[in-house]
Amino acid sequence: MPQVELTELTRAELEAALLAEGLERYRAGQIFQWVYRRGITGFAGMTDLPAAQRAALADRFRISTPPVARRDISEDGTEKFLITLQDGRHVESVFIPRTPHQTFCVSTQVGCAMGCAFCLTATMGLLRNLTPGEIVGQVRVLAGALDLRAARFNVVFMGMGEPLHNYDATMAAVRILADDHGFAVHPRRITVSTVGIVPGIERLAAEDVMPRLAVSLHAPTDEQRAALVPVNRKYPIADIIEACRRFPPARRGRITFEYVLLAGVNDAPDDARRLAALVQDLHVKVNLIPLNPAAGIPFERPSDERIDAFGRTLAERGVTVMVRKSRGRDIRAACGQLAVEGMKRSAAQRLADALKP
Ligand code: SAH
Repeated sequence: MPQVELTELTRAELEAALLAEGLERYRAGQIFQWVYRRGITGFAGMTDLPAAQRAALADRFRISTPPVARRDISEDGTEKFLITLQDGRHVESVFIPRTPHQTFCVSTQVGCAMGCAFCLTATMGLLRNLTPGEIVGQVRVLAGALDLRAARFNVVFMGMGEPLHNYDATMAAVRILADDHGFAVHPRRITVSTVGIVPGIERLAAEDVMPRLAVSLHAPTDEQRAALVPVNRKYPIADIIEACRRFPPARRGRITFEYVLLAGVNDAPDDARRLAALVQDLHVKVNLIPLNPAAGIPFERPSDERIDAFGRTLAERGVTVMVRKSRGRDIRAACGQLAVEGMKRSAAQRLADALKP
C-alpha cells in the first residue's frame, strides 16, 4: 500500500486515517504536536506513542519537509526563502520580522493566473496549485529555520498565487495552521489576500475557522481596475464591496483593502476621493502599497509627496489608512516581487511543450 503524506492532512483527516488503521484517534493530536510544534518528523522520535504504534505509523505514513534551495537576508531583516517542491518546482516564502509581530508570507500557487499588470509573479502564468501540505510546509520550514516554532507569529497568504483560486488547499492549510495541537495560530493572525474572487469570498464567509480577509482593490473605478486586474471584468468592484459587506463582522475583524500606488495611473487626488466614497460605510482599513518596481513592469512608484497626499485625502475623510513600508527590496522579497529565478527557462519549456506535434 502506498504511504500517505501526513502533512497533507488536517487533524480531523488524520484522526479518520488513524481509526482506519485501528489506532486511537487522540494520537492525531500528539502527532500534530510533534510535527508542528517540535519539528520532529520521524515517528521513532515520537516518544509518547507506544513503540509498536510508531512502527505501524512509519509503515503507513511519511512526513516530508521541503528543502530550502536558497535563503537571502535583507538589510532590514526580511528573509526570502526559495523552497523546492517534490516535483522540482520552486516557490518563494518570506519572513518579515517585527511588524510588530513575526510574520510569514506564504505562496499558494506556483505562478499565478490572475495576470495583474504590475505583478512579477503574473509574468510566470500559473504552473500549478500548491497542496495544503506544501502551503503549511513553508511555515514549517521558516519557523524551523528561524527557531520560531514555539513563538507567536502571523501568517499572510500574500506570496505567489491567488489563494481563492486554490480555495480548498488554502482552507485546509488555514485549518492545519490554526489547529490547537499544531502551530495554534489564531485565525485572526492569519490573513488571506485575494484579488477579489467573489464566490471565494462568499465561501470563506461561511467557514467555521475564519481567517482575516484582505482584498486587492488597486483602483476606485471599474474602468481603471480592469486595466490593472483583468479578473475585474468577471467580478466588478460593486460585487466585491457587496461580498465584503456580507462578510461576518463579528469574527472577521476588519477587512483590509490593499491599494498598490502607481504613478499617474491611480494616485491622483480624485482617485483618493473616489476610494474614500467607496469604502465610506464599510468597516475597513486601507493599506497603501507604493509599487515595488521591477524590470519588465511598465509602471513607476509615485513620489513620496504624492503617496502622502493620497493617504492624507483618505484620512481626512475618516478612512483608516496606512502606508505599507516596503521590506526586503534589496533581495526582491517585497510585495509582488516574488517570481522564481529560472522562470524564463520554464516559460520557454512550456512554449516548447505547446509547440510539440
Ligand atoms: N493574489 C493575491 C495575493 C498575492 S499578491 C492578491 O492579489 O491579493 C499580494 C499583494 O501584493 C497584492 O495586493 C498585490 O496586488 C500586491 N502586489 C503585486 N505586485 C506588486 C508590486 N509590484 N508592488 C507592490 N505590490 C504588489
